[in-house]
Amino acid sequence: MRKRSIAGLSLAAVVVILGGLSQVPAAKFLVLNTVLPLTETLSVKPLGSDAYWVTGGIGNTGFVIGDTGVIAIDAQTFIPSARKQLAEIAKLTTKPVKVMILTHSDPDHINGLPAFPRGMDIIAQDSAKTEIQAVITDPTANGFPPSDEIRHYLPTRTVKASETTVLDGVPVVLIHTAAAHTDGDLAIYFPTKKLLFAGDLLTPAIGPYPGIHLNKQGSSLGLFASVKAILALDADTYVPGHGEILSKDELRRRLQVAEERREQIKALFDQGKSVAEAKSALNDVPLKGAAARFPTFIETTYQELLAEKAAGDAKK
Ligand SMILES: [Zn+2]
Repeated sequence: MRKRSIAGLSLAAVVVILGGLSQVPAAKFLVLNTVLPLTETLSVKPLGSDAYWVTGGIGNTGFVIGDTGVIAIDAQTFIPSARKQLAEIAKLTTKPVKVMILTHSDPDHINGLPAFPRGMDIIAQDSAKTEIQAVITDPTANGFPPSDEIRHYLPTRTVKASETTVLDGVPVVLIHTAAAHTDGDLAIYFPTKKLLFAGDLLTPAIGPYPGIHLNKQGSSLGLFASVKAILALDADTYVPGHGEILSKDELRRRLQVAEERREQIKALFDQGKSVAEAKSALNDVPLKGAAARFPTFIETTYQELLAEKAAGDAKK
């Protein structure tokens, strides 16, 4: 009964709690880490040939069953949610999780790491490893402090650009095209399964436009380049960081809508409009759900264009 009433927290309440996280003293994070996961009901969905994606958490995760172990993609936001995911994996295989691939360093993708076995291989892009190291040094560095146990989960192997490899018998291509959502994004492509985990290069759950973390050197043009790179692959199924899986056609449409939006934003910027005027002219709305506390695509694009202009002026 108790669990039920907590689980009955409305989505709006969860959004308010998450929205206020940046103002919450560290001690309260323990409470949030305990209460919020109770609102989550994970569901594991097969993608064919030993591959699965897991929905119902703050973000999507995934896993592939290899020859001797499980290859996991992202770690859930909360340790209890990650434990739930491990229990779901255990229903499908007795093999342990041996490899974790992180799509980027954001807390909603890494804070569940301590639920996973210590000593597993952890793969991330170079910059994501630097950012995770920063969180280990200063737990507040990522906006949402993880458990101290995260110190045992520094990536053990990094990727700079792209790498083709075989992990536990499974061919995998690890792809970093450019700084996009963050500077440490990694897309994970399973060519024999025509399957790609995109992390937050794709976030349909927060709205039609991309989320860019300028504080982690994200870039809208880098994101477009990254999405084009994954579109060019022989993949049928794209698992986003947040939201429902996308087909190649849906991905193409999403890219087109975002590119058109950026052109409209740039046109207003070039006319000397303020960001407030651009937001009003283009009917800007906050990002959906827990992402509502982040700046919108218009706001981040304006900041990028202002920085570009300042750099151009400095050269003159
Ligand atoms: Zn995310």
